[in-house]
Amino acid sequence: MHSGKRALTGPARLAAPLVAVLAAFALLLGLPAPGAHAAETAEGKTFVIGTDTTFAPFEFRQDGELVGIDMDLINEIAENQGFNVEVRSLGFDAALQALQSNQVDGVIAGMSITDERRQIFDFSDPYFESGVQMAVAESNDEIGGYEDLEGKRVAVKTGTEGQTFAESIADDYGFEVIAFAQSAQMYDDVKSGASVAVFDDYPVLAYGIKSGNGLKTVTDKEAGSSYGFAVNKDANPELLAAFNEGLAELQESGRYQEILDTYLDAGAADTSFWALLKDNAPAFAKGLGLTLLATALSLLFALILGVIFGFFKVSANRVLRGVATTYVSIFRGTPVLVQAFFFYFGLPQIIGQPVDVLTAGVLTLSLNAGAYMTEIVRGGIQSVDPGQMEAARSLGLGYGKTMQKVIIPQAVKIMTPSFINQFVITLKDTSLLAVIGFAELTYQAQQIYAVNFRTAEVLLIIAALYFIVITLLTQLANVLDKRFNK
Ligand code: GLN
Repeated sequence: MHSGKRALTGPARLAAPLVAVLAAFALLLGLPAPGAHAAETAEGKTFVIGTDTTFAPFEFRQDGELVGIDMDLINEIAENQGFNVEVRSLGFDAALQALQSNQVDGVIAGMSITDERRQIFDFSDPYFESGVQMAVAESNDEIGGYEDLEGKRVAVKTGTEGQTFAESIADDYGFEVIAFAQSAQMYDDVKSGASVAVFDDYPVLAYGIKSGNGLKTVTDKEAGSSYGFAVNKDANPELLAAFNEGLAELQESGRYQEILDTYLDAGAADTSFWALLKDNAPAFAKGLGLTLLATALSLLFALILGVIFGFFKVSANRVLRGVATTYVSIFRGTPVLVQAFFFYFGLPQIIGQPVDVLTAGVLTLSLNAGAYMTEIVRGGIQSVDPGQMEAARSLGLGYGKTMQKVIIPQAVKIMTPSFINQFVITLKDTSLLAVIGFAELTYQAQQIYAVNFRTAEVLLIIAALYFIVITLLTQLANVLDKRFNK
């Protein structure tokens, strides 16, 4: 019904008073006013409908298409009632502004029916029951309720019930509210840690969390209002009537429930493999990052342990040899899993303070890999023919110099393939740390399939990721080996 955003600028704005005057005349003469519709039905007409940009599962983009519960509802109601819709994805506040300035005929955007809004808009029958809830970053264990928000900042979306609610309690709890135009910015602000929490509608939070957006809820939802389709007060009554009629028919036929199920049960709206990969890419990336971090730290410490205890093992000192042998036999003689449990659950009882999961994980893998490294170092040194030591010494080189110039370079060359082997083993062993809740790759996979139940696909994805990373890194190690161990 409108030609676009500029409908009310320029000539159109000048024409507005004219239309009003004509309308008054028409009214006096008992004629239909210009712009009013002779037949009080929506049939055959085209209405411009404003909506939010991203408010999954109600409206969001999938492969460039606007989809979601609201989108299915408005399109199917239009079809059912024989009218046409042209949907504009504007953003929540922008859609409301556009409606007030008549740039759109109606708004469907998970829009809550509130008393204030009823003053300026007419709402359809409610079609979804909602309410505001708070969410924090998954890794955030400090915020357990509103009282923990003191001195912190929370993110909301401009013009929403979430904003109204957050502001209504901000002074009581002493937190600051920052409003963003788009959901994505609001969520990013929480993920980056700039804001500690977000207030949004609970079905939307639940859906996002289910799709792996990295948040979690820690408080109950607030009593909330329901969603309705809005038109301007006393404007487009035929559109509102058609919406209500179509909604009732979809509800009766069971189609309404089907639409809800499509979006709410799926966890992710798109159930294709690519969507699974794409939607969970941040979780996989985080998991892979932590896997590599734990591997790198553990190998660094393991190397240090391996060198120290490896030299102990070849030393002439019986005590040093004994210490090294004990260390190796303990860590080689017990399962990594038991060691991980011990450092995470057992050690805190001994030292009387909690050990964080990264520390426990790195401790486990360092000590474990260190035992194997010790054997690699010992084997490397011992595999250099003892005759070389004797020869170098008889040429007048000291013990240290002989080690440095003759024995170690050869030993390192012999040890390198075993080091690379150990590196691969340690990288794969990080997956065991999932059991103590370390958020590496395997843990992420478990979290994902716990929600969407797509166990096989998710496990295949992470197996492929491990495989690719290990292949690339071993190739790199081999190149370095060739270059430096000539
Ligand atoms: N239901 C909320 C409101 O009406 C939020 C809607 C939205 O963000 N799209 O304020």
